[in-house]
Amino acid sequence: MRAGGNDWVGGPGTHVMVVGGGPAGCTAARRLALGGCEVTLFERRPGWDKPCGGGIPQAYVDLYDIPPGLIERHTRELVFHAPSGREAHCPLGEGTYLAMVHRRVFDAYLRSRATEAGVSLVTGHVTEARVSRTGVEVVVDTGGTRCLYSGDAVIGADGVNSTVAGLIDGPMPPYLVTGQYRIGRTGREPADYDAAVHIFYMPELSSSAYGWVFPRREHFDLGVATRPEDAAALWHSLDRARAGLPPGVGDGPLLGRLAWRIPSRPRARLVADRVLLVGDAAGLVAPLTGEGIAYAMRSGDLAAETVLEDPSDLGVGHLERYHRRWKKGHRMSWGIMRRLESAFRASQWRREAMVDFFADPYVRRFVVSAYATRQIPHQRELFYGRTAAVALSCLARHFFRR
Ligand SMILES: Cc1cc2nc3c(=O)[nH]c(=O)nc-3n(C[C@H](O)[C@H](O)[C@H](O)COP(=O)(O)OP(=O)(O)OC[C@H]3O[C@@H](n4cnc5c(N)ncnc54)[C@H](O)[C@@H]3O)c2cc1C
Repeated sequence: MRAGGNDWVGGPGTHVMVVGGGPAGCTAARRLALGGCEVTLFERRPGWDKPCGGGIPQAYVDLYDIPPGLIERHTRELVFHAPSGREAHCPLGEGTYLAMVHRRVFDAYLRSRATEAGVSLVTGHVTEARVSRTGVEVVVDTGGTRCLYSGDAVIGADGVNSTVAGLIDGPMPPYLVTGQYRIGRTGREPADYDAAVHIFYMPELSSSAYGWVFPRREHFDLGVATRPEDAAALWHSLDRARAGLPPGVGDGPLLGRLAWRIPSRPRARLVADRVLLVGDAAGLVAPLTGEGIAYAMRSGDLAAETVLEDPSDLGVGHLERYHRRWKKGHRMSWGIMRRLESAFRASQWRREAMVDFFADPYVRRFVVSAYATRQIPHQRELFYGRTAAVALSCLARHFFRR
C-alpha cells in the first residue's frame, strides 16, 4: 500500500505475515490479530516436537497465562555439577518453580490460541521472502503446490535457520550445536532428578560443552550443547554423559535422539523496512542459560506492540523502536549473563569456580530465585554489585588453586 508520499504505509487492516508458528510467531500473531491486523501465520511442521528442554521460568508462566494443564513438571531446584564431581544445590525459593512443558503440545496450544484470536494459519514451508517498495511477498510450498502470498509486513519467527532473516543485512549469528537423548523412565529414578534441573560441566565433555537433565512426565531429556567445531564428538559426549548419570536415569530406554542449533548471540540488526525478526530467528537466546522460549514470546510481543503503535508506518525508522525496546529491557541482565558466561565457561578451573558461585548463600538466596521470578529482590545496583563481587572472589580462589 502507498499513500501520502509515505512508501511504508500499512493503514487500517494492515496484513502482517508471520513465518513460523513456534512461541515467538504465535505470540506476535495473536497480539497483532487482537490489535486489529489481518494476520497470516505460516508453519511448515505443525506436529513438530522442537528439540528443547521445555523449561520456562515461573514469571513467564504467569505473564503469558500458560494453563496449569500444559505443565508436565514443576521443578524447584537447580543442581550444578562441577568437573570434579562437586555439586551445588540451589532451591528456587518458597513457592517458586521452573515449569517443564512438552513443546509439541505447548506449540499446538499457542497456535490454537492465535487462531482463536483471528489469525489465519497456513500449513506450508516459506521458501522465499521478498520486499518491494509497496509490500512483502512470500512463496509458500504447501506440499507440492507453490503459492504466493502478499502483505504489508513480514515477521521472521522461523527459528535459528531463518529464511526471513535473509532480508536483513548481516551475517548469521554464532550458534552452539546441541544433541538431546530422550530417556524413558524406569521407576527407579532418584527423587532429586524428578524435582530438579541438573546442569553438568563434566570433565568428559569438551571445554566448550555443557550438559543438562530435565525431568518430563514420561521421560528425561539429557542434552549437550557444544561449539560447532566440536560437533563431531556430540553423540560420543552424550553417551559419556549418559554413562555418568545415576542408576534409574542413565540406564532407562533410549526413546529418541534429536539435534538442533541454538543461537548464542543476537543478530546485530533485527529490522528492515517491513521486516522484523523475533525469537531464535533474531538470535534472542539468553547467554549462560541457553533459554529462549520466554524471550521468543517476549520479542514477539514487543514486535507486535511496535507494529500496532502505528501500523501506517512500516519503515525501518519506526520498526527500530522494537529493537530499542528489546535492548532497553535486556541490556543489563544479558550483559551480566554474558560476562558470567565468558568468566565461567572457558576452562575446567573456571567451571569449578562457577559451581562455587552457585553454592554461595547470597547467589542461592537471591540470584537463583530472581532468575525464576524475574524480580530483582532489592536495589538493582546492590544486587548486581554483590553478584559481581561473589563471581570475582570465586574466580580468584580457583585461579590461585590451579
Ligand atoms: C536442545 C535444546 C534445548 C533447549 N532448551 C530450552 C529450555 O529448556 N528452555 C528454553 O527457554 N529454551 C530452550 N531452548 C531454546 C528454545 O528451544 C528456543 O529458543 C525457542 O524454541 C525459540 O522459539 P522460536 O519461536 O523463536 O523458534 P522455534 O521454536 O524454532 O519455532 C520456529 C517455527 O518456525 C517453523 N519454521 C521454520 N522455518 C519455517 C519456514 N521457512 N516456513 C514456515 N515455518 C517455518 C518451525 O517449524 C517452527 O515451528 C533449547 C534449545 C535447544 C536446541
